[in-house]
Amino acid sequence: MLLKIAWLYPDLMSTYGDRGNIIVLEKRLRWRGIEPIIKKIFISSPEEELEDCDLIFMGGAQDKQQQIVNRDLKKNKGKILKKMINQGIPGLFICGAYQFMGRYYKAADGTTIPGLGLFDFYTESPGLKFKRLIGNIVIQPSIFTLNTKFIGFENHTGRTFLGKDVKPFAEVIKGYGNNGKDKTEGMIYKNTVGTYLHGPILPKNIELADWLIEKALERKYKKKIVLKKLDDQLENMAREFIINKL
Ligand code: GLN
Repeated sequence: MLLKIAWLYPDLMSTYGDRGNIIVLEKRLRWRGIEPIIKKIFISSPEEELEDCDLIFMGGAQDKQQQIVNRDLKKNKGKILKKMINQGIPGLFICGAYQFMGRYYKAADGTTIPGLGLFDFYTESPGLKFKRLIGNIVIQPSIFTLNTKFIGFENHTGRTFLGKDVKPFAEVIKGYGNNGKDKTEGMIYKNTVGTYLHGPILPKNIELADWLIEKALERKYKKKIVLKKLDDQLENMAREFIINKL
C-alpha cells in the first residue's frame, strides 16, 4: 500500500515546528510497511499534483506569507482544495492555514485577507496593541471516544469565531484556542481538521496522526482499515508529563 501526502507551501507555511507533522506521518506509515510519498506543493506547482493526493497538510505562517499564499489559493488551488475536502479526503490545517478555510482573516495591520469561504467562520486580529494568544494549550478533542486530551503550543493574533453550524475540533481545558473566550478550539468537518495547535501537533498527539492515516487509507483502498499497533509508550508518557505540569 502507499499514501500520497500533499504538503502545501512548505517554504511559506511552516512555523513552530509544523514540518514535524510530515515526519510523523511519514514514519508511522513506514513503520507499518506502507509507502509514504510526500508531494511538496509550491506556488509554482501545477494543480494536478495536489489533486492526485490522498491526505493534505498545511502549516501556519505570519500574516505576510498568508497574503502571498492566499493569492495562489484564490487563483487555482483553492477550488481543488474545496473539492477534496468535500470528498472526505483527510486534511490537517494549522493556524494560518486553518484561518484560510473561513470567510476572512483581518490581519494585525487591518488588511483583510479573504478566505476560501469553505466554512462559516471568521478571524479577526484586534491589532498590534493587543496581546497575541501565546502559550501551551490542553484540549479535549471531540472525535475520540477514548478520554484523550491533546497538547500543543499556540501563537496567534487572530481570534476565530465559528458560525452556529460549524463544529469545533475540541474544547479548551487550558489556553486560548479559537478566541480565548468561548472555550472552542479549531473546527472539524468530515475528515478535515483546522486547529491552532502547533507544537507540532502530531508527534505530541499520535492518535490524530493515526486517525488521518486510517481515514486516508480507507478512502483510497475502499475498505475498512485497522492499523497495526505501534509502541507509543514514550509519546504517551511525554504527553502525560506535560498535561500534569500544566
Ligand atoms: N498570522 C496568523 C495570526 O497571527 C497566524 C499565525 C500562525 O500561523 N502561527 O493569527
